[in-house]
Amino acid sequence: MGLNKTIQAHEAVSGAANWTKDNLVIDPDYEIDNKKIDWINVSIEVWFDADAKFGVKSLPYDESWVNLYADYNPITDELKIWYTFNTDDTCELGVYEPSEEEKALVIEMISAMLFKEESCSPRDVVEQRREEQRILTCDFCGSEVQRLGNDGETYMSWECELCDKCFCRSCFVAQHGSELLEIMTDMTSGWNMACPDCFEI
Ligand SMILES: [Zn+2]
Ligand SMILES: [Zn+2]
Repeated sequence: MGLNKTIQAHEAVSGAANWTKDNLVIDPDYEIDNKKIDWINVSIEVWFDADAKFGVKSLPYDESWVNLYADYNPITDELKIWYTFNTDDTCELGVYEPSEEEKALVIEMISAMLFKEESCSPRDVVEQRREEQRILTCDFCGSEVQRLGNDGETYMSWECELCDKCFCRSCFVAQHGSELLEIMTDMTSGWNMACPDCFEI
């Protein structure tokens, strides 16, 4: 990842297209992060001049493209928009601060997509995910899996991202030690959640 960059909506190059329902498409293949289940992550197809909107210059490259993403928390009504500017061999990450209108539009479009896909609202989607977290049992020892993270609030999904098995803190620590558990479950570390069997350094 290259230099981080934050763009405010009003700083976008003038003449860049405003966002409308016609030039954005929310990918129905949404995700809820295992570590932050109140957040719905979507990628957004853009049908406007992304280079102008985000002030990235693609001319010197043979091939370049912008990917746009949104993270939406329907509980707190927060929306984060970020993008990557990609060329054949580079990838720059940027944050885009949308205007109030853009924020409302993206939230409305995410809601419409979820209603079409799941027949429920964004809030229902994350609340269902919370419910699912409550009944997990460890596939290794059968005990109920501790659901809360170190801060006592963030729901952690103790599911292996490789084999989908559920595992508990003790089974992981018994095999790999508490230090590696700390690192793996630190949301900023970028490590995948892996069960005692699948975990590799
Ligand atoms: Zn266990
Ligand atoms: Zn596994």
